[in-house]
Amino acid sequence: MEALNREKFNYNLEKRVRKVIEDYKLLEDGEKVAIALSGGKDSILTMFLLDKFRNEFNLQLVAISVDEGILGYREEGLETARKHADLLEIELIEKSFKGEFGLQLDQIHSLYKSACIPCGVFRRHVLNKTAYQLGADKLATGHNLDDEVQSYLMSFARADFRRFSKFGPKLDRIHPQLVPRIKPLWRIPEKDVGIWAVLNGVDVHFAECPYSKQSLRAKLKNYLNKIEEDYPGTKLNILKSFEKTFKHNKTLTELFKCEKCGEASSLRICKTCEMLDDINKKIE
Ligand code: SF4
Repeated sequence: MEALNREKFNYNLEKRVRKVIEDYKLLEDGEKVAIALSGGKDSILTMFLLDKFRNEFNLQLVAISVDEGILGYREEGLETARKHADLLEIELIEKSFKGEFGLQLDQIHSLYKSACIPCGVFRRHVLNKTAYQLGADKLATGHNLDDEVQSYLMSFARADFRRFSKFGPKLDRIHPQLVPRIKPLWRIPEKDVGIWAVLNGVDVHFAECPYSKQSLRAKLKNYLNKIEEDYPGTKLNILKSFEKTFKHNKTLTELFKCEKCGEASSLRICKTCEMLDDINKKIE
């Protein structure tokens, strides 16, 4: 009975992911796909699913892990990432904030209202740069339905409408050095990702980042979970509203080359270099 439930659940999950892949043409035949692999349940499921589609789309897969420098948290995630990449025979490239920027998140988090602010900027920079250097056609991330709805509402709350162009399961190439991002779990609720890991006995890194509670995202997450409990389907409805409103109405930001590091940027100096300058001034 348990095996039957598991198979049914896996079949249904795969079917929903396949639908997003088909609806939005996330994968093309023969592509090289880099997977952002933290070791958490979302990125591990993303890697397992892409492995399932590997032959069908003739994909070449590679994984990238980034060590932000969070003592007592990231090491375990990295171990899990190594273990599963090894199991699926996918090459894992390991990068770190220390190696790329000469700093650890633990050293600079207090300079910001939330550690997630520098963490997100630096991690996106490292992932894109590495995927580009590897010659990847796509960069797959483990963003699930909950993540996307939270990001969407955060942008609303901050009146940051420029970010709306960054939502959706596929971000097109808008600069030669910006690897298009895909989110295969875009319609999968976080709860289902957890159920997948438990039902299949997949060892994933379930621990929460010690900095996560400081963020607006964490507050929105709790709030949305409470609403979802009382009004099931709310999260999916928010995602659908977004899909309908913005699907054909994306204002793409023009991108240039950062004058300092040469990476793609919407400004003369990219956010990563701006932050690094700021951090250096503050800790001098
Ligand atoms: S919760 Fe914030 S600080 Fe922690 S890994 Fe995620 S983005 Fe970085």
